[in-house]
Amino acid sequence: MKRIGGRRGLAKKAEILIIGSGLAGMSAGQFLNASGYQVTILDKGFRCGGRYATRRIDDFSFDHGTPYFKPSQIPGDLKNILSEPYLKGWPEDLSENAKASIVSIPAMRSFPEELGRGLDIRQGIHVEKLNFRDDVFFAETVETSSKDTPMSDEFSGPFDAVLLTAPGPQTADLIEGLLPIGSDLLKAARKVTYTPQFSVLVGYDFLSDAPSIIHNPTSKIAKIVNQAKKPERPEKLAFVVFCSPEWSLKNLDKPKGEVAEIILKDLENILSEYGVAVDGLGDPAYLAAHSWRYCRLKNPAGLSPEAQLDSTSTIAVAGDWIMLPDTYGALLSGINAARQIETKLNNRS
Ligand SMILES: Cc1cc2nc3c(=O)[nH]c(=O)nc-3n(C[C@H](O)[C@H](O)[C@H](O)COP(=O)(O)OP(=O)(O)OC[C@H]3O[C@@H](n4cnc5c(N)ncnc54)[C@H](O)[C@@H]3O)c2cc1C
Repeated sequence: MKRIGGRRGLAKKAEILIIGSGLAGMSAGQFLNASGYQVTILDKGFRCGGRYATRRIDDFSFDHGTPYFKPSQIPGDLKNILSEPYLKGWPEDLSENAKASIVSIPAMRSFPEELGRGLDIRQGIHVEKLNFRDDVFFAETVETSSKDTPMSDEFSGPFDAVLLTAPGPQTADLIEGLLPIGSDLLKAARKVTYTPQFSVLVGYDFLSDAPSIIHNPTSKIAKIVNQAKKPERPEKLAFVVFCSPEWSLKNLDKPKGEVAEIILKDLENILSEYGVAVDGLGDPAYLAAHSWRYCRLKNPAGLSPEAQLDSTSTIAVAGDWIMLPDTYGALLSGINAARQIETKLNNRS
C-alpha cells in the first residue's frame, strides 16, 4: 500500500481532491489552485481530458470525443482563454456561421491539458472508494496499466474536500460508500442517464481533398469530421465518423470490429457522392470503433450551484450532468462547485 497526494507538510491551505481530469475537473482545479488551495486531480484514464479525447496512433491523430465547440460555450470566467494560442477558429472553408467553431491544437485533448497546466494531475489512477473519518477524506485507489490489470493498491489523503466530476452513474457509485453523508447528491446522481455512441476512426496512408464536416449523411451517421482539415494535424486523410445515437443504441452489442466495417462501407459511398474519387477508400491503414458508454447526457440532475455541495460535509459534484449537457455545462459546473467549496472552507476556518 503506498500513499499519494494529501497533506504536504508546509501546506497552509486546505487540500482538495478532484476526481476526473475532464473539463469540469480542470476548470474547478484551475479556480481552486488560483485561490491557493493544494489540489490533487486523479483520473483513471491514461490521458487527461475525459470526453475531450484524442487517439494518437500510427502517425494518425483522431479526435474521437468532442470534435469542436463554439466560442459561446466558454463561460464568462474563462473568456480570456479564447485568445490563447492553443485554440483556433475552424473550419476555414465553410460559411461564416460554421467558422465560429473552435478546435484546440495540436489535438482536442490539448484544451483540457492546457487548462490543467501547473496542476498536480495523476492519470491512470482509478478511485475505487472514498472514506470519511475525523473530518477528512481518503481515497482508495488502484493504479492500472490497462483497465483489467491492476498494478498496485494505493491510498491518497487526507483531503479537506472532495469534488467528484465523473459521469453521474460513476459518481453515484463513489458517493454510495460514504453514506450517510452525501445522500442528496447520491439521489441526484442516480437519476442521470446518458446515450451511448460509437465513434469510428478511419485513417489512410495518403492525403486527398474531402469536406471538413458532413452532417447527417445517412441514418447511421450523425457527423463525419475530416481530421486532416483541422489545424496542425498529420497530413494524411483521416476521419472520425460519429454514429447516430439511435443506430448506436440499436447496435450496442455488435463487436466493435463489425461496427467499424459497417460504417466504413457507408463512408466509402458518402465520400464518392462528395466526389472524393480515390482508390483504396475501402482499405484504410487504420480502422477502429470506440464505444462511448456515457456520451451525451439524456437526463440531467438539475442541480443549482448551491445544491452541488453536500449540506453536511465538503463533498461536491460537477460535470456536464449537473445541468447542461456540453462543454459549457461541464466548465461552468466546475467553477460553480469550486466556489461552493471555497465558501464552505472559508466559513469553517
Ligand atoms: C463522441 C462525443 C461527441 C461530443 N460532441 C460534443 C460537441 O460537439 N459539443 C459539446 O459541447 N460537447 C460534446 N460532447 C460532450 C462533451 O465532451 C462533454 O460534455 C464534456 O467533455 C464533459 O466533461 P466532464 O468533465 O463533465 O466529464 P468527462 O470528460 O467525462 O470527465 C470525467 C472524468 O472522470 C474520470 N473518472 C470516472 N470515474 C473515475 C474514477 N472512479 N476514478 C478516477 N477517474 C474517474 C474519467 O476517466 C474522465 O476523464 C461530446 C462527447 C462525446 C463523447
